[in-house]
Amino acid sequence: MQFFVFIEKIALFHFLSPTKRLLRELRIMNNNHSVSTASSHDASHRHASLSSMQRGSAHVSSPAPVCLRCGNRDPHLFFTYRGRCFCRRCIDFGALEAGTLPRTPRLSHRVWNVRPVLEFELTPFQSEVSSRALSILQSGRDVLVYAAAGAGKTEISLQSICTYLAQGKKVCFAISRRQVVIEIAARLRRNFPDLHVVQICEGFTQETDGDLIVCTTHQLYRFPFCFDLLVLDELDAFPYAGNEVLESIARQSCIGQRMLLSATPDEKNLKAIERGEMEMVNLFMRPHKQPLCVPVIKTGSTLYQIAQVLFTCRRHMRNGKQVLLFVPRIADTRWMKLIVGLFF
Ligand SMILES: [Zn+2]
Repeated sequence: MQFFVFIEKIALFHFLSPTKRLLRELRIMNNNHSVSTASSHDASHRHASLSSMQRGSAHVSSPAPVCLRCGNRDPHLFFTYRGRCFCRRCIDFGALEAGTLPRTPRLSHRVWNVRPVLEFELTPFQSEVSSRALSILQSGRDVLVYAAAGAGKTEISLQSICTYLAQGKKVCFAISRRQVVIEIAARLRRNFPDLHVVQICEGFTQETDGDLIVCTTHQLYRFPFCFDLLVLDELDAFPYAGNEVLESIARQSCIGQRMLLSATPDEKNLKAIERGEMEMVNLFMRPHKQPLCVPVIKTGSTLYQIAQVLFTCRRHMRNGKQVLLFVPRIADTRWMKLIVGLFF
């Protein structure tokens, strides 16, 4: 990965006009908060051009510059431009001068006494976990909801969201992936038909305030020191997982408590719980009470694998069950359909 980033920087350095880049960067610096990070292509260009600027300027000479957005203290990850020192580590989110805090936007604050509209009532287990999570948040501590896939993590967060909204507090639901932002925002609109739920991700960045904000973790850079409750879903998903800059930005966006939702929490979060930095509630029972499927790997010749597939399909279909068959490539669906069609 590092190798490809390096190649990209070199390529851009050689083929882009340095003068144009300098002028463009000056505009970006003067208009820091209007810069959108929605396009990773643009972000790469900014990064590359600032790297090229650094070649023409001395490294930071002032002692121990620190970035108050991403926490960067590595002198090699700063550059100076016209006597001002900027962080390169989080440059994708707009140029920020070392030692200065990012600007906090003005957001609306309204008291909402709403109750979620649920398609299904919470199970007793879900209700218990939901109440325990809320009581931890109300004690001023962060909570990790460690629950199996399909256990209803989003539904578990609704009670806490309602409680914060009823106190006129600002709530954000942040997720790694854009497509999931759109899906969760649609679900929350059904759960809270009276609220203006705003989705902020690539392609949806015109409106950045609402009664309830749903955004990608990348878009949290717009909201430093804004949220009383930050619900973070898909902690283990790319690109949030293991990305220290995104993690710093997420922490900075929250002035209250964080509710982390995960089916597979990483070592870092589990250690934070061991150190007592946050608490954890568990829910491994899914609403239908069926245990999680455990995959079984069967290797062998193609003929053996096809025989296994047919045998397994037949066994399930005899029991009146539906079968969904995945194959690795689109082209494989054609011959697999032919073979399966011969037997069923
Ligand atoms: Zn930074």
